Amino acid sequence: MQEDKDKNKLTQNEILGNVLFPSWEINKKVAELGKKITDDYKGKDLLLVSVLRGGVIFLSDLARKIDLPLSLDFMSISTYDVAGEDTGVVRITKDLEQSIEGREIIIVEDIIDTGLTISYLMRNLKSRFPGSIAICTLLDRDIRRIAEIEVKYSGFKIGEKYIVGYGLDYKQRFRNLDSIYELNIDTVKKDIESLKANS
Ligand code: 5GP
Repeated sequence: MQEDKDKNKLTQNEILGNVLFPSWEINKKVAELGKKITDDYKGKDLLLVSVLRGGVIFLSDLARKIDLPLSLDFMSISTYDVAGEDTGVVRITKDLEQSIEGREIIIVEDIIDTGLTISYLMRNLKSRFPGSIAICTLLDRDIRRIAEIEVKYSGFKIGEKYIVGYGLDYKQRFRNLDSIYELNIDTVKKDIESLKANS
C-alpha cells in the first residue's frame, strides 16, 4: 500500500497520525481540477504561479493535468508571526521572473488557512496589471478564514487538524509523502514541551 511506502520514507513514524487523503484520492482530485482549468482557460495565455515550498508538489502534478500551453513561475515569501499568531505581514524573498501584465494568472497553493498570506499576494500581483488572477488550492480550511478572498478552484475542505505530506511540512519534513496525514498530536505536544524545556 502507498501509505506503507510513505512510512518507509520517515525516520519519525510516530509523528504521523491517520491518513486524511490517500494518494489515489489526491490524484483523482488533481485530475478534476486540471480538467476544470483546461475547460476555463482555452485560448488564453495561462501562467501558473506557485508559492515555494509547499505548493510545488501540487503544482507539478496539476500542471501535467492541464491540457493547454502554459508557463510556470515561482515566488517565495516569509511571514511574520507575533507570539505564534500570523500577522498577515508578508515579505517577498523571491519574486516572479516574468511580467504578468495582461496575462491570465492562477496562484497555485497547497493550503489556505486564514487567507492572510494569499490576500497579501493577490494585492501585490494585482498591482502589476494581470489580465485576470484566480486562486487554486488543494486544501481549503475555510472555517479559519479571516481575509475575504474568492477561491475559484478548491480541492478538499478540511477541519482544524494540522496536516502533513504532499508538499506540506512539519519542521521542513514530510513534504515528500504521497498521501496527506494528520499529525499525531501527542507526539507533537511532547516535541513542543521538550523544545520549551531546552530553550
Ligand atoms: P494562511 O495565511 O492562509 O493562514 O496560511 C497558509 C500557510 O500556512 C500555508 O501555505 C502553509 O504553509 C501553512 N499551513 C496552514 N495550515 C497548515 C497545516 O495544516 N499544515 C501545514 N504543514 N502547513 C499549514
